[in-house]
Amino acid sequence: MSQSELYIALAVWVGVGLITFFVLLKVRAPYGRYARQGWGPTVGHRQGWMLMEVPAVFVFPAVLLGGANEASLVSALFILAWEVHYVHRAFVFPLRMGPSRKQMPLLIVLSAVVFNVVNGYLNGVYLGSLSASYPMSWLQDPRFIAGAIVFVAGLTLNLYSDTVLLQLRKNGDGYGVPEGGPFRLISCPNYLGEIVEWVGFAIMTWSPAAAVFAFWTAANLVPRAVANHEWYRETFEQYPKSRKALVPFLF
Ligand code: NDP
Repeated sequence: MSQSELYIALAVWVGVGLITFFVLLKVRAPYGRYARQGWGPTVGHRQGWMLMEVPAVFVFPAVLLGGANEASLVSALFILAWEVHYVHRAFVFPLRMGPSRKQMPLLIVLSAVVFNVVNGYLNGVYLGSLSASYPMSWLQDPRFIAGAIVFVAGLTLNLYSDTVLLQLRKNGDGYGVPEGGPFRLISCPNYLGEIVEWVGFAIMTWSPAAAVFAFWTAANLVPRAVANHEWYRETFEQYPKSRKALVPFLF
């Protein structure tokens, strides 16, 4: 792939992300609390999560390391950040969910697989072949340092918030109102953390493909946060009125 082909692919990818955003504002993706029939064949919830996320674990490092740029400590750190997230998401998070009788439509799994393959490829090909090689001095560049801090902050918020939710689930199959920490301010701190994480990755790599990935993450999760927030308000009469959906005090 050439530079210009990458930019065309990214422009198309942004267009698909925009369409996805508007569709998800209208249709609640049928997994988790919105799991429902009528979406074709299904797989187990846990297996679905693993199948969806596994491609990201392999595609990104394979394409990056197979590229023309020489591997370096900098590219190893980019891969490390990516893998800390995706090894957890593909192998640890589904096990932490505990057993569930819930099903997930194969359609959701396949669309996430396509997303992860395309996204892993675009990010890997940019960092492994199309960017100039990152010199060691990149590790002292304010963009790398600031991006890494933002990435770790987002990852921490995401992991912490998912842990609170999974602990609520331990009390049974039903849903409860999460309390404390970031949940005092917003309904979906796990989604905010995930968006912040990939914004951080985009800053630390200074990569257009990673910027588009951050945009896609928001396109997926902003509509889901709006839906979850409405769902909490409809489901729990006492749901705190001051709590926002995704951005403290604002939204
Ligand atoms: P949710 O917040 O809907 O659920 C997270 C887990 O907690 C699920 O196991 C869920 O169970 C359980 N849970 C959620 N709320 C409650 C509650 N109030 N009471 C009891 N249990 C609860 O997150 P998602 O499943 O949508 O996403 C999971 C992770 O994947 C998140 O970290 C998210 O950021 C990430 N993600 C990333 C995307 C991206 O585009 N990068 C897209 C989608 C998700 P159940 O499944 O039964 O509802």
